[in-house]
Amino acid sequence: MEDLEPESLIKKGIKGVIVDLDNTIAPRGEGAVPSGIREWIKRIQSLGIDVVLISNSPSSRTQKYAQELGLAWIANALKPLPMAFIRASKKMNIPLKSLAVVGDQVFTDVLGGNICGAFTVLVSPLSKKTDFFTTKFVRVFERFILRKFKKGGG
Ligand SMILES: [Mg+2]
Repeated sequence: MEDLEPESLIKKGIKGVIVDLDNTIAPRGEGAVPSGIREWIKRIQSLGIDVVLISNSPSSRTQKYAQELGLAWIANALKPLPMAFIRASKKMNIPLKSLAVVGDQVFTDVLGGNICGAFTVLVSPLSKKTDFFTTKFVRVFERFILRKFKKGGG
């Protein structure tokens, strides 16, 4: 995620960023936010970009990371359903088309962001190791779909 240039988002007219929690800004489990990501958030905020944390994880977990980073947050988001993205857009007072959704999963972050008309950025998961069967299951399909896209594109 640190490879994502805040300036490139700003050039696209992005005014706010919705970031995913698990495997995007923090590893699953109890792991700390990597310092590079911490700095990335500070840097993008210093450029005037609003950042909100949206996670399908429960409140207890989401709040812990959000408070540590000083971010507004929405837990139990039910991504890819659009409700949480719409709530974030209202909270930030920024239209969905000027928001970027940054996350590690095609079927939650990217699909949800696309449904809402936001700009979406798929990042590499922080940890390849996942402790939920469903995530592994989803990831197999993601790889399949990404391969299809690549094939289709070339
Ligand atoms: Mg995630």
